[in-house]
Formats: sequence, structure tokens, C-alpha cells
Amino acid sequence: MTDSKYILSLDLGTTGNRAILFDQRGNVVGQVYQELTQHYPHPGWLEHDALEIWQDTSNSIQQVIAENKVNPLEIAAIGLTVQRETCLLWDKTTGQPLHKAIVWQDRRTANLCDRLKAAGKAAIIQQKTGLVLDAYFSATKLAWLIDWVKQNQPGINWDNVMAGTIDAWALWNLTGKQVHATDVSNASRTMLMNLDTGDWDESLLELFNIPRQIMPEIKPSMGIFGQCDRDLIGAEIPIAAIFGDQQAALYAHGCDRPGLLKCTYGTGCFLVAQTGTTITRSHNQLLSTVAWSTKEQTNYALEGAIFTTGASIQWLRDGLKLITDAAETESLCHQVDDTNGVYFVPALSGLGAPHWDMKARGAFLGITGGVQQEHIVRSVLEAIAYQVKEVVDAVNQDSDHPVSLLKVDGGAAKNNFLMQFQADALGVPLERPKVLDATAQGAAFGAGLAVGFWDNYQQLISDRQVDRVFEPGAGQAPAQDNFAMWSKAVARAKNWIE
Ligand code: ADP
Repeated sequence: MTDSKYILSLDLGTTGNRAILFDQRGNVVGQVYQELTQHYPHPGWLEHDALEIWQDTSNSIQQVIAENKVNPLEIAAIGLTVQRETCLLWDKTTGQPLHKAIVWQDRRTANLCDRLKAAGKAAIIQQKTGLVLDAYFSATKLAWLIDWVKQNQPGINWDNVMAGTIDAWALWNLTGKQVHATDVSNASRTMLMNLDTGDWDESLLELFNIPRQIMPEIKPSMGIFGQCDRDLIGAEIPIAAIFGDQQAALYAHGCDRPGLLKCTYGTGCFLVAQTGTTITRSHNQLLSTVAWSTKEQTNYALEGAIFTTGASIQWLRDGLKLITDAAETESLCHQVDDTNGVYFVPALSGLGAPHWDMKARGAFLGITGGVQQEHIVRSVLEAIAYQVKEVVDAVNQDSDHPVSLLKVDGGAAKNNFLMQFQADALGVPLERPKVLDATAQGAAFGAGLAVGFWDNYQQLISDRQVDRVFEPGAGQAPAQDNFAMWSKAVARAKNWIE
């Protein structure tokens, strides 16, 4: 690998798709980002155009290579990390998706989940998959897509249909339509994988009426998945790691031992705690999931998934038009001392951990005549921190290692107001790294280590630089006192639609 200079990391997120080149020292050489169109066909539904995802991915790859004048032969490997649970069906003969991809936040299958709950299936699903029965995961979304195709394209030949999460779709396209596979961390989020065996669970495939032959092969997160098509950039480069985005961030933060955990502030917030090589079961509605695997070893994690955090900031921008840019929220929050009694419940897609209430909806409570734009914006940011606090409390109840430091990353972790308020609300310090794209960095580390571009994970981790530590400060008392009122608001918004 002496001639290799770079690892190419592809981070296909909910908000947008990114291609980043990392050099041998783990530094970012260059990146290209394209925001992804969000389609809202009905309240509570969210779709992505999978062709747009692939076109933006291939364009970003070509652009990042051209802009940085990189010889593609100098790229040692590609690492891929994706938004999880979002899934689609496509026709392998045409390469066309059969329907838009259904995004993880989409609630259209809430009623199907209710029927499964009423039929007493929640406990067995949780035992097999480690997940709480919810519309969030891929299984009911795939079942919905299959029904839709059966109704709208009754003549379809199911031998030509492929199913997958976004990693499987991207891998199939990257490899010139050759490889239909997924990694175990993404597969563990489908609600179709048996957590003990690491393979598709026949009884779950049957329960959701999903033909086994349309599912991708499950492979270890780190290892060769295939070679990228020469036509893409003029070189065949191994795709050597695939992770779910949250698992990639956990890997980048060096959380490889029990007691280490991180929180990523993106579209949603995902607090993930490493639990080592054994599966830990939660008593507080956290998920048991795969962290990552190699051929030799699988690591597991406990996770608190919060659906709407950065997404509520996007909504302030695109829906309410109260702001023009997410970054503006920081100065708006600093312009007022508090929220003037306003509490926001960010249940725009129901509530995830620790409530798992698909029927909760967003709410502002406590509004009086003096409330201004800044108070509304501040209440939205404070609600992000309070949601994370609920999950940290759950982790503390589940684990022998009380949370004493939170490593953070993701787009919204740039917001200094949010980070300070979070440290105040939790009463523990937050550590923010210089490279906030921990997701892309984790996929790069995995791919580089898998092909021998790097040989020392611990060294990569210790070379990462800390940007800032946020210590709990004078804001602790009000931040912690107001948590009870915010919880009261959450209680009002629960089980809203029936
Ligand atoms: P994802 O991987 O889920 O697409 P990212 O980690 O790229 O998300 O982060 C994008 C999210 O972060 C968006 O929801 C955006 O609103 C939010 N965001 C970006 N910058 C800021 C900021 N300065 N303050 C608050 N939120 C921000």
C-alpha cells in the first residue's frame, strides 16, 4: 500500500450526501456535500429519491477527486456509512427503484406495528432483534413497499427484485451492479436480523411476508465487499468497510470498550454506548444493536435513538421560516436569557427513546403574549438537550458505568449554545473533536484498517484532536430545574393522534 495516499469515505446521511478524502494522518483533504431533497407526501411520511442519492454520490466522488487533483490509483479503499433503516426495492434488470425509499423517520406503518403489538409479537421481536417494535425500523417499511408493488405492478417478476437499506443500494451501484450485500450493523437495524446469529431470521421474514431471495447478503462491517466499477473513476478500488452512521461515529470516537459512549447530533440524536462482545439487554427501552464486526469478532452496543433534533432546526428554517440558516440559532438563543416559559416537544415523527410513542406529535406549550421568535428558537434547542438527557438517564439506569463524559459530533454539535446547555442539563462535560464528521471518519478508519493502509486503531484514535470541552457551569440550576416542566409538556403531547 506504499503508493496509496488516501481513503475515500462516503457518508450518505438523511440531510445530505458527502464524499470526503482522508490522508494517511487521518486528516480531511477535501470534501463535497450535496443536500438531499426531502419528500413529504403525507403528514408523518418521508421519502427519499434513491436515484438522487446515487447520482449525488457518484457526482460527489468524481468532484472530490477532481477538485483535489487526486490520482484515483492513489486511493487505497472506500469506506461507506449511511443513514440507517431507510430502505427501498429496486429492479436489478433496469437498475430503477420500484418506489421512493421510505426514510427512517416515516410513520406510515404505525398501524401495522399496533396490529403486531395487539397480536402479542412485540416481546419475541425484541428478543430476536434487540429492537423495540416500531415503525422506525425497516421491516414494516419493506412490507409496505412489497404490498405497494404487488398492487401497482402485479406482473413484476420477484426474481428481479432486490431489497436493501441505503448501503446495499449504494454498494450495488458502486460495484457496477455486481454485489448485493449489507453489513451487520445496518442489518441489525432492519428488525429482520437475529441478533444472536447475525443472519436474517426466517420466522421474521415470514411474519413480514418478505421473500428471502430479495434480501442482501449480510457481511462483517470491515472486510472487502467488492471493487468499485472502473467506469466510475477510472480505477477499481475496494469497498472495505460499511457501517450504519451511528456505529461509524462510535468507531471514530474510539468507543471500543464498555463504559465509552458518544452522542451524534444530526437529523436525530443517537446516543450509543459500547457494550463489548456480549449482547446487553436494556430495561429502559434502549435498543441492543451491533456496533461493528470483523470476520473474527462482533461488538455490540446499547442505543437511545431520538428521531427529531436537527430536523426540528431544519423545520424552523424550511417550514416555519423563522431562520434562514441553522447556524443562526446560536446567536438567537444568546439574545434571550430563557425561553420565557415556552416548552417545545419535538415529536414531529413521534417519539423514540425512551418513550417509543408513534402517536405523539409536536407541541409548543406555555406560550404567552410576550413570547418572541428568539424564545421559540431557544425552546427548540433546549428540547434537543432535554431529549438527550432522558436517554442519558436511561443509560445510567441500565449500565454499571455512570456517564461521566459525553463525546459529541454531528452537524448540530457545532452549536455552542446547544453544547453548553447540554453540559448544564446533564451536569457532565461534553468533549467535541476537531473533525465533527465522525461518521465519515469512522468509515474511513474502518476501510483503511481493513486494507492495511493503517495498522493501529488506537494510534488513529489518540491522534484525533479535541476542539473544545464544555464544562457544566452557572446554567446548571435553571437547565436542570426546567427539565421537570419540559417532561410535563412531553406527557401532554403523547398519544396525540388516534
Ligand atoms: P445527518 O447526518 O443526519 O444528515 P448532519 O450531521 O449532517 O446530519 O447534521 C445536519 C443537521 O444539523 C441538520 O438537521 C441541521 O439542521 C443541523 N445543524 C447544522 N448546523 C447547525 C448549527 N450550527 N446549529 C444547530 N443545528 C445545526
